[in-house]
Amino acid sequence: MKLDFSQLNKQTKQSFNDQHSVIKKVMQGKIVTCEQCHQSLVLITPEQSEKPGIGCLKGCTFISLEFA
Ligand SMILES: [Zn+2]
Repeated sequence: MKLDFSQLNKQTKQSFNDQHSVIKKVMQGKIVTCEQCHQSLVLITPEQSEKPGIGCLKGCTFISLEFA
């Protein structure tokens, strides 16, 4: 599986760095919790949803990812 991070570059640098570290941790299998609901963030693959990315089940945190 290859990830395209170019979409993230369009956002602010601060949030890009934050999102990048969250993505890295989740991809490494580490537990990252949502700041709002404190549930663990999970990887949503293109097979699971039309909008793949990383987010919590409630949807208050969502980082959209492009899968190449
Ligand atoms: Zn949440």
